[in-house]
Amino acid sequence: MAKYTPMIEQYLSIKADYPDAFLFFRLGDFYELFFEDAVLAARELEITLTGRGGGTEERIPMCGVPYHSVDAYYEALLKKGYKIAICEQVEDPKDAKGVVKREVVRVLTPGTVMEGKLLTDREHNYLVAAWGEQQQYALAACDITTGHFYGAWFDSIEQLVGEIASYQPKEVLVPELAQSEEISKQCSNLGVQMIERVSETERETYGQLAEQQFSVSIDKPLLRNTAGLLIAYLRETQRSTLEHIQEIEIYAAQQYMLIDPYSKRNLEITESLIEKKKQGSLLWYLDQTVTAMGARMLRMWVDKPLLNRNDIEKRLDSVGFFTTQLFVREQLRDFLKLIYDLERMSGRISFGNANAKDLIHLKQSLEVVPKIKQIFEAETNLPQGVSENVAELDSCPDIVALIGKSIVDDPPLSLKEGGLIKEGYHDHLDKLKTVSRDGKQWIANLEKEEREATGIRSLKVGYNRIFGYYIEVTKSNLAAIPSGRYERKQTLANAERFITPELKEQEGLILEAEEKLTELEYNLFIEIRSQVASHVRRLQSLAHRIAQLDVLASLAEVAQERQLVRPAFSARSELVIVEGRHPVVEKVLDRDTPFIPNDTVMDGEENRLLLVTGPNMAGKSTYMRQLALIVMMAQLGSFVPAKEARLSVVDQIFTRIGAADDLVGGQSTFMVEMSDIQLMTARATKDSLVIIDEIGRGTSTHDGMSIAQAVIEYVHDQIACRALVSTHYHELAVLEESLSGMKNYHMAVQEEKDRVIFLRKLKRGATDESYGIYCATLAGLPEQIIQRAEQLLNQYRLTNRSTSETTEKHSSQLEELVQESFQLGLFSETAPPEQKRQKIDKETQQLIQSLKEVDLINMTPLQAMNFLYEMKQKL
Ligand code: ADP
Repeated sequence: MAKYTPMIEQYLSIKADYPDAFLFFRLGDFYELFFEDAVLAARELEITLTGRGGGTEERIPMCGVPYHSVDAYYEALLKKGYKIAICEQVEDPKDAKGVVKREVVRVLTPGTVMEGKLLTDREHNYLVAAWGEQQQYALAACDITTGHFYGAWFDSIEQLVGEIASYQPKEVLVPELAQSEEISKQCSNLGVQMIERVSETERETYGQLAEQQFSVSIDKPLLRNTAGLLIAYLRETQRSTLEHIQEIEIYAAQQYMLIDPYSKRNLEITESLIEKKKQGSLLWYLDQTVTAMGARMLRMWVDKPLLNRNDIEKRLDSVGFFTTQLFVREQLRDFLKLIYDLERMSGRISFGNANAKDLIHLKQSLEVVPKIKQIFEAETNLPQGVSENVAELDSCPDIVALIGKSIVDDPPLSLKEGGLIKEGYHDHLDKLKTVSRDGKQWIANLEKEEREATGIRSLKVGYNRIFGYYIEVTKSNLAAIPSGRYERKQTLANAERFITPELKEQEGLILEAEEKLTELEYNLFIEIRSQVASHVRRLQSLAHRIAQLDVLASLAEVAQERQLVRPAFSARSELVIVEGRHPVVEKVLDRDTPFIPNDTVMDGEENRLLLVTGPNMAGKSTYMRQLALIVMMAQLGSFVPAKEARLSVVDQIFTRIGAADDLVGGQSTFMVEMSDIQLMTARATKDSLVIIDEIGRGTSTHDGMSIAQAVIEYVHDQIACRALVSTHYHELAVLEESLSGMKNYHMAVQEEKDRVIFLRKLKRGATDESYGIYCATLAGLPEQIIQRAEQLLNQYRLTNRSTSETTEKHSSQLEELVQESFQLGLFSETAPPEQKRQKIDKETQQLIQSLKEVDLINMTPLQAMNFLYEMKQKL
C-alpha cells in the first residue's frame, strides 16, 4: 500500500471525520485543501489547482488560500451551501516533535454563520431540526447569532413543513427515520434548501443534552430529542458551550393563526410573489422599525398572528398609545436609532468574537437606555404593553461602568497591538506604560541634545522595525561627529545610522515594556469581555424589550402614515370592514389613481359566504386578498387600512388563489387547486377564513362548474365558516336562493359606448354580463360578429342559465359563427383583389386553424382580447 508522508497521513485521518465538509488545513500562512476537496474547491472558488508530493508516486491535488483573506473564501463556499471544517495548528511549530499537532477548531455551516456578509442585519439566520414519528412532528429552530431558540410540535406533516418554511432556514437537519424522506421531499417542494440527513444513533443522549442546555424539563419527548439534536449539532460545529443559548421558547402550532406556506406566498406576507423580495410584501409595508432587533421581531409577528384576544388587544393598546403620543414616539425612535444590534453583539461577546469596538458600541447603546426610560417618566396611564417593557429595561449600569473604566473610547480593531485599555484600570499595565512612555520621551529629547552637542542641525533620531532606534547623520555631516561618540549601525546611500549604549538600553526597556504591555492588554480585554459575557441573559432580555418598543412604535408610525384604524374585536362571529383597502396595492398605486375602498359585511348567519363575480381585471382578487391581509394585520396587533373594522378572531386562513407559480412542482393548476381545497376541507373550522379565487378554473366547464358548486356547498354547509369565493361562472349566482348563508356580490363595471370602465367597486347582486363581447368590440371585430354574439348570448341566457352543457354549446356555437364569418370574408372591409386572394386564403386558413385550436374555456377575457388583437394584426 502506498505510504504518505506523516503530514498527509495526519490530513487523511482528520478528513475522515469530516467527509461532508471542505477541510481547510492550516500550513503556515496558508489554508490548504487536498485531494477531491482541492479539485472541487479550485472549481468553486476559481483558484489554481496545483499538486504536491506526498510520499507516493502520484502528486496530490492541492490548492490553497492565504490565511488573512480566508473569510471571503469561506463566505463563497457557505453561500453555495457547503460546510467547512477549519483545521488549525494547535501547538507552536517550535515545540513540535515531528508533525505539528492539528485539530479542527470549528465547523462552519450555512445555518451557523456568526458574522460576515452572509448575515443580513434585519433578518434571522436559522438552523432548523425536524423530526417525525408516529404522526407526531417536532421542530427546533435556532439563530445562533442572537441566541433565539424555539421548539414547536405539530400533528401533521403539512404544518411542520409550513413552519420550517416560515423560518426560511439556511440549513435543515432531519434524522434518518422513516419520515425523513417525506419531510425532505416536502421541504424541497417549498424551495427549502440544504436538507441534511443526520444520524439518530445518539437519540438517547439528545434529550438530556437539551434539558441540560436550557435547565428545564421538556415534557414532550419528541420535542426534547429534536431540540437536543440541534444542540448537539451546534456544539459539534461550534466547539463551544453556547452560553448565549439559554432559553427555549416552546409553542404549539395551534397557538398562532395558521396559514399554510402557499397562502403566505400568495398573500405576499414576507416577500413578493414574483420577485421574491421584501419590497411589495406586507412586511415591507409594516416595517418602519429603526433597530435590527425590531426588524427581526416584526418579521416574527407578521409570520405569526395571534389568537388570544387579550394578547392582541394588549398590542393594539400599545400601538394606540404611540399613535396619539407623537412626541413620545419620535423621541423614542430617535433614541432607538442610537442602539446597536444588542442581540448579535451579545452573541459575539459570549462567543468570544467581539472586539473592543463592540464593547464600546455596547456601552454607547446601554447609555441610551436611561434616556429612553426618562421619556416615559412623565406619562401616566401607560398601556400595559408599553409600561412592562419600559419597567423592565435594564440599563446595566455595572456593565457600562466596567467598560467605561477599562476600555479606551476609540479602540483599534485589532486586539493584539495594544491601545485597548484605559490608564488607571490596571496598576502593572500603567507601570509598563510609564516605562514605555518615559523611554520614548528620553528618545525624543535625545534628538535635541545631540543636535546641540554635535552642532549638526539635520541630525535625526528615528525608528524602524528591523534595526530599532537610531541616530541618523547625513554623509556631509559625518565629520562633525566627535570621535567615539556613536557606534555605527547601518549605512545608507547618503547617510549613516548610529546608536549609543544609552539608546540601546532605552530601546530594550521600551520594547520589553511594549511586548508585555500588548500581551497584558489582550489578556485584560479577554477578561473584561468574559465578565460582560456572564451577563448575556440580561443583555438579551434588554434587547427583547427594545425590540418590542421598536415594533410597537413602528406599527404606530405606519398607522399614522397610512391612515389606519384600530380594529375592534368582538366575541360574536363577524367580519365587518367599512371602506377597506388593500395595504400594499394602495401604497404602490401612483397618486393619480386613487385606491377604491370597499366594504366587507359578514355579520351574521345570512352573509357568511360571499360570492364575488365580475370580469377579469375588475379587482376581485385584490378585494379578497385585502380581507385576508386586514385580518392578519389586526391579529398581529396592527391597525388596519379601513374606515372601520369589526372582527372576531380567525383561527386559520386558507386561500386558493390562482397564481403563475402553481406549476412549480410540475402539477397542473387544477391539481394544485384541488389539493389546496382538500387541505382546507380537512382543516378549516367555523372560525376560519376561506378565500377561493376563480374557483374551478383549469378544467373543462362541465367539471369546473360542478366542482365549484360542490365546494361552495361544502364550505357553506359543512365548514360553515366565513368565506369569500370568486368565480367567472355567473351561473353559480343562483345558489343564493338555496344557500341561506350566501350572498352575491359583483365588481361593478361601467359600460360606455365603446369601452368598459372598471369601477373597482363592490356591489350587491351578481353580474350577468360577460365582458368578453366588449373585449371583442374593443379589439375591433366586425359589427356582424358582435351582433350575432350578443344574439346568441341572449338566446343562451333565455334557454338555460344553470347547466354547464349550454355554456359549452354556447362556446362551440361561437366558434362556428367565427368560422362562418371567415368563410363569408367578413374580416375584410372590401373584397380582396383577385391577385391577393390566394395568399389571403392561405392566411385565412391559418387563422381558422388557430381559432379552432384556441382553448376558449381556459382563457381569461384579457387573453381572449389579446388573441383577437393578434388575429386582427394578421388581417
Ligand atoms: P381580478 O382579480 O378581478 O382579475 P385584480 O384584483 O387582479 O382583478 O385587479 C386588477 C388590477 O386593478 C390590480 O392590479 C390593481 O392595480 C387594480 N385594482 C384592483 N382593485 C383596485 C381598487 N380597489 N382600487 C384601485 N385599483 C384597484
